[in-house]
Amino acid sequence: MLDSYNILVLFDLKIIFMELRNFINGRFINSISKKKIPILNPSNQKVVGNIDEALDNEINLAFESAKKAFDKRILLDMDAKEKSMMMRVIANKLREKKIEGGKILSQENGKTIAQCVGEFEGAANTFDYYAGLTDKIEHKIIPSGNDTFNYVVLEPFGVSLQIVPWNYPVSIFSGMVAQNLIVGNTIVIKPPELCPISSNFYGQIFQEVGVPDGIINIVHGYGEVTGRKLVQHPSSDYIVFTGSPQVASEILKETADRIVPTHFELGGKSAAIIYPDADIDKAVDSTVKGIFEPNAGQICVAMSRVIIHPKVKDEYMTKLTEKTKKLKIGSGDNADTQVTPLISQEQLKRVSNYVKSGIQSGATLAVGGEAAEIGDGNYFKPTVFDNVKTDYTIAQEEIFGPVTSVFDFNDEDEAIDIANSTKYGLASGVFTADDQKAKWTADRIQAGIIWQNDWFVDGVNLPGGGYKRSGYGRDGGVDGIYSHGQTKRISKRLL
Ligand code: NAD
Repeated sequence: MLDSYNILVLFDLKIIFMELRNFINGRFINSISKKKIPILNPSNQKVVGNIDEALDNEINLAFESAKKAFDKRILLDMDAKEKSMMMRVIANKLREKKIEGGKILSQENGKTIAQCVGEFEGAANTFDYYAGLTDKIEHKIIPSGNDTFNYVVLEPFGVSLQIVPWNYPVSIFSGMVAQNLIVGNTIVIKPPELCPISSNFYGQIFQEVGVPDGIINIVHGYGEVTGRKLVQHPSSDYIVFTGSPQVASEILKETADRIVPTHFELGGKSAAIIYPDADIDKAVDSTVKGIFEPNAGQICVAMSRVIIHPKVKDEYMTKLTEKTKKLKIGSGDNADTQVTPLISQEQLKRVSNYVKSGIQSGATLAVGGEAAEIGDGNYFKPTVFDNVKTDYTIAQEEIFGPVTSVFDFNDEDEAIDIANSTKYGLASGVFTADDQKAKWTADRIQAGIIWQNDWFVDGVNLPGGGYKRSGYGRDGGVDGIYSHGQTKRISKRLL
């Protein structure tokens, strides 16, 4: 039925029928606000599609339906095996749609098609992993004498509001939703306004799978309008936010009177410490994949700082600059592309301004440092700054682009001081052949994830999250589930 869809025209001249409406109470609804948001392709500024903007009426409906589904205890009373099967079918459907989904995500987000297809695959793996955990949540019994009996159960908060950023919208959606489904929170979720279309695959899949109405509602809109209204809405019992610390801070202020529990996955300024005994080729490869290749450095755990011993610095810098110069910059639909465009022109301006500030502070520009003029795309050349000092703005703030800063250290304590010198604490890395030294280093770095001799050693069964301004709460693995609920203690006196 043509009129139940909005039509999305892809640039390879194929027409794909793709939902561009809000998904509320188990179906896509016709717009009430009558407003739309244009979504631009970051490689050429062409409109990929226009998505419906959710305003007060849509937001009220979404919360009403999530609240009704929670009050009916649909998720809480669902048999664990049934929930597991539902999640496995969602996983299979995500795999079925990965090519189509990956192409659309690539157009609206700019990443390579391969990365975007991989994002759908990863999302499927996440649903599969959590499908296997629905019947493995164990509660605790705590002894306290012969005439009492205490047990503790994990319970949901209620309606969870979830707000997603643009850099990995499909995988962050899957992680947050899958964990919350297990705990039993119903969901109102807002995808990012810069690339929301691919998140509508979830609505289509939930309909096809027959996910009970109201459990997951997807509403679209600008952060400062729809996002703020969602946060201010009195019906959210819990807020899961992935994004910048600035917005997290606003959310805390907005909800201070209601004391709404929050779960924050925020920004980072992640550092790699490279000791003199490190495998330098590995360190160079890790830097390229840690800051340039995935999503042009627009990644929360990007290797945006490198702290290196002078004994190996020349070798590292020579090899890194050589490799960096050869990286192919281009659009996500070109299979050879290694560095894709930044998400928006605003982001391009932001990255350019940080680079100017690095030069003004006195850092040495080793490679890159300017926009790459390729058509109308938001391209920035992979950039390495050398001789950076910890008080420079580029050493402290999250740039969120293909820019890394190199620092020297002379002893191990100094390396730790530099690594811990920012307000952030998301990820970190240590490159050394000495496991004792790696452990000593990992013990002292203030960050939620430490990698050794590589970058991105990850898995859906591994928990991660921030220290300091990078947030709180954990996602991934079994820890993630306990992080999205609250516990209740029941204590009996035995008669
Ligand atoms: P952002 O904070 O600008 O936006 C994130 C989301 O919040 C978007 O959906 C946006 O619409 C919404 N939003 C914006 N203003 C809002 C407001 N006033 N009230 C409510 N919602 C609002 O972040 P971004 O630019 O989309 O993403 C980049 C940031 O996300 C970086 O800091 C990055 O490090 C972080 N991030 C963190 C993780 C993690 O797991 N720690 C993962 C991905 C991205």
